Amino acid sequence: MSQYLCHEDPTLFDVECNVIKAEPGRVLLSGSSFYPGGGGQPADRGSLLWAGGETAVSGVESRGGQIWHLLAEEIMPSGTVVAKVDPVFRAQMQRLHTVLHIVNALVFQEFDGSLVTGVQMSDSGVARIDFDLPDADNERLRALEPGINDVVRQDLAVRTALVPLSAAAQEEGTLRSKAVSPPAQSDGRIRIVEIDGLDRQACGGTHLGSTGEAGEIKILKVENKGRHNRRLRIGLVELAL
Ligand SMILES: [Zn+2]
Repeated sequence: MSQYLCHEDPTLFDVECNVIKAEPGRVLLSGSSFYPGGGGQPADRGSLLWAGGETAVSGVESRGGQIWHLLAEEIMPSGTVVAKVDPVFRAQMQRLHTVLHIVNALVFQEFDGSLVTGVQMSDSGVARIDFDLPDADNERLRALEPGINDVVRQDLAVRTALVPLSAAAQEEGTLRSKAVSPPAQSDGRIRIVEIDGLDRQACGGTHLGSTGEAGEIKILKVENKGRHNRRLRIGLVELAL
């Protein structure tokens, strides 16, 4: 993968660009700041503007290494356009995603390096995360909630850095997912997301600048998923409750 614009500049939402190729209901653009999805985080939503009109961008699809923007109408815009990311949706995903890193960090510490087996964020202010925890007491997992909110209150800085994959692989706990690791860039480096003093892990998603922006969270449910997995449902209090 190459470096996304949304990683280079998280405050960039609107990008003027050209339609390189169009099919009914989808366009290939010369550039945009849409997050294309991955790691349990859905693709950004937004809109596409051009001289003759506007339509919603309902999703993003990677096909043969190309990132296509999916349109709400079966149209084929051409020429110069402006690809606009919905900042409200992006902010919500950043909040959920950053909270999941905190949850992940605390589970990793308290449950002997347990790894993540699945993640899904939704647009209702709720996300779920699964861990490989065959023998865990669910009450102990529920008891993590005050600790998660404590990290939010501490407002720890969240930073990203690109490091060689070989170095990341040697650093214990950096590759945290049992199922997939984020792909390295074409230059062989991998993106590390660090919560100051708490956690470092490889991730290709979008996050907050500091944990305090997440706001209070609640653990909505802890359930068993199969013999090995425990699933936590986490909600942003302000949005989901
Ligand atoms: Zn992440």
